[in-house]
Amino acid sequence: TRTHDEEDLPHATKKTMADHLRKYESLFTLTPQRMRIIAEAFKETLELGLTKPGQVVPMIPTFVFGWPSGKETGDFLALDLGGTNLRVCLVTLQGSGQFEITQSKYRLSEEQKNGDGQKLFDFCAECLKTFVETNIGSDDEGPIKDGHHLPLGFTFSYPCSQERIDHGELIRWTKGINVANTEGHDVAAMFATSLAKYQLPIKLTALINDTTGTLIASHYVNPRTKIAVIFGTGCNAAYMEHIKDIEKIKHLGIDPKAEMAINCEWGAFDSFEHEHLPRTKYDTIVDESSNKPGEQAFEKLISGRYLGEILRLVICELIDEGVLFLGQNTYKLENPYCFDTAFLSLMESDPTDELLMIIGIFTHFFALETTLAERQFFRALAKLIGRRAARLSACGIAAIVGKMGYLDEGCSVGADGSLYNKYPGFADRVHEGLFDIFGEKGRNIITHHAEDGSGVGSAIIAAMTKIRKDAGLY
Ligand code: BGC
Ligand code: MG
Repeated sequence: TRTHDEEDLPHATKKTMADHLRKYESLFTLTPQRMRIIAEAFKETLELGLTKPGQVVPMIPTFVFGWPSGKETGDFLALDLGGTNLRVCLVTLQGSGQFEITQSKYRLSEEQKNGDGQKLFDFCAECLKTFVETNIGSDDEGPIKDGHHLPLGFTFSYPCSQERIDHGELIRWTKGINVANTEGHDVAAMFATSLAKYQLPIKLTALINDTTGTLIASHYVNPRTKIAVIFGTGCNAAYMEHIKDIEKIKHLGIDPKAEMAINCEWGAFDSFEHEHLPRTKYDTIVDESSNKPGEQAFEKLISGRYLGEILRLVICELIDEGVLFLGQNTYKLENPYCFDTAFLSLMESDPTDELLMIIGIFTHFFALETTLAERQFFRALAKLIGRRAARLSACGIAAIVGKMGYLDEGCSVGADGSLYNKYPGFADRVHEGLFDIFGEKGRNIITHHAEDGSGVGSAIIAAMTKIRKDAGLY
């Protein structure tokens, strides 16, 4: 790899890049005061979602009642349909926080992500069949005995409105998925159709969101957990609510002293109206060129699906202005979504003075040469975009903490997803954001890496459901 001296490239001297950076700094930086205003509006939105159905942030009652007791035991299948992979797990819950897990992953093709709904569920059933045949068998020793159906928890990480735990009407696809004939349908029923087609001895016991699974699994191993957040391709949170405060399900006559997990679907905060969040023109372009303009406004500023694209749009603007890569062919950078969010993680973690990893990204993936000043600029830009994402996330967490009154006693927030797990400093920035919002007390709110929600969490919820059913409670 060749690097050149800054003198070779007069368009990219340290001074001009630093000047440009100042502009982006002011666009992407959130002051503590602004964060408090956002958190307050967020809190009001969450409260509104609990009062009546059909709100922008839907605050979905999940029919997961309270925390696990630790007495949940048995064999359960868990199926996790994410945006990239399909994962099948066999989870054996051994009680008191112990479990064993066997799993397989299957990649979703572009065709499956843009095809037909029933076909996607058929593929799920097909993978389950393969998994059951290789890992379980059908002899009388295994968990599947004659006439016995293995209970399954299905983690379906998209907003579904639920009337019971084994039902869920898909409100909308998110994260760029574009599968036909599914929105507005009961995905649990569609999945059951596919199970029947493949004659699988499996029963869908619970349909859950990844955040709900994460909430329950994290609490199972760490009872201080009160909130769960996913920072991955998408972004969302779940927490445990008092039934008496879920106005919109009063008519169901559930014991008001009981509790139920709420899947917030907070990625939808500020959708359509765009009155609370500090959106830049790059965010507007991301939104307007997405397959769902107006929707998931909060998620589009935070989640892994979009951060790389935001940075790419800034770079493209500077290419158009003749500031970057003059005289080089930049066509490879012009492809929407070609700049992976993982590149931001890499850029921020480059330990070398010369920023050699950044050289590598640009030469290897885009056939472009960079000066040190440009690389420092890219890294600073990644930092601004990554930091804004973390600080906005802190506003969402602060809204739940404020609403539930968790600040004084403090609580643990189970967090999972590629951004949380792999982006350097993401968690620290969330904590710093909570400090900026709440002051010293903000230190009582601590995120931690969550237990596997869509595997273990889904199995625990299936077990909790079975226990309630056996007690005649559903
Ligand atoms: C979905 C949520 C999900 C989140 C994280 C969002 O796009 O709407 O249901 O929990 O992504 O996977
Ligand atoms: Mg997932």
